[in-house]
Amino acid sequence: MLPDIEDPRFNELGPEGFTFACHPEVPCFNECCRRLNLVLTPYDVLRLKNHLGLSSEEFIERHTVVESGQNGWPLPRLAMADNDEQTCPFLSPQGCTVYPDRPGACRTYPLGRATKGGGEGGPSQESWFLVKEPHCRGFEQGRCWSPQEWTQDQGLTAYNASNDLFLPLVTRQAPAASAAEAQKKMQMFFMACYNLDQFKQFVTQSRLTQIIDLEPTRLELIQSNESQLLKFAFDWLRFSLFGEPTLRLKQG
Ligand code: SF4
Ligand code: SF4
Repeated sequence: MLPDIEDPRFNELGPEGFTFACHPEVPCFNECCRRLNLVLTPYDVLRLKNHLGLSSEEFIERHTVVESGQNGWPLPRLAMADNDEQTCPFLSPQGCTVYPDRPGACRTYPLGRATKGGGEGGPSQESWFLVKEPHCRGFEQGRCWSPQEWTQDQGLTAYNASNDLFLPLVTRQAPAASAAEAQKKMQMFFMACYNLDQFKQFVTQSRLTQIIDLEPTRLELIQSNESQLLKFAFDWLRFSLFGEPTLRLKQG
């Protein structure tokens, strides 16, 4: 997705990298965690619901507002707390209470990542830009980072890998269909991406694994590892909604 290049907060990132530090001693500590329009990715929800010990459904109900995104897909936005400052619900005076599992967008700041393409092999093009929020004093101190060093330091690799598989799906226009058909497709999209507990039930209780040709090792991983289940969910949606050859039916 490409940033709005007219937005003055977005700056080109040169090969010299950027200087930045964020810690409890910065004068602006916690100022950025409020009034956010933070759309959560499926991997964000997976990490957060497990951190909080909630089911996917409980997490979505308690902490998000589901809205229709740019291409018509239902997407959950993190609901801010009902206080004057509209703070993030996970903010405490000491900082982020879900820090080890905070969303990818929180990890990426002060960078932005723009990609083209996506899927199994990753994006065909990746570029970085700097987002300079006027209240952020982190640019006045710290060491110099390259985007790759920042990605590593902030534990972004697993987030980017999952989001790169989600991107080819969510950047497509939702398929045209009758109102009833469209509703079914939206429900399937939302369940597979965001209600992973329910999708797991769907996979185990429906005939899906009997009709889809899956290697036994992949089947085992899908049943035991939620990141792998999510990866399968993306393949399933591309296969079932758009007829892409991401999966194969068993012969006969
Ligand atoms: S999840 Fe944590 S880092 Fe992200 S906005 Fe909320 S408090 Fe801040
Ligand atoms: S405004 Fe910038 S430096 Fe201050 S707490 Fe937020 S990210 Fe860190």
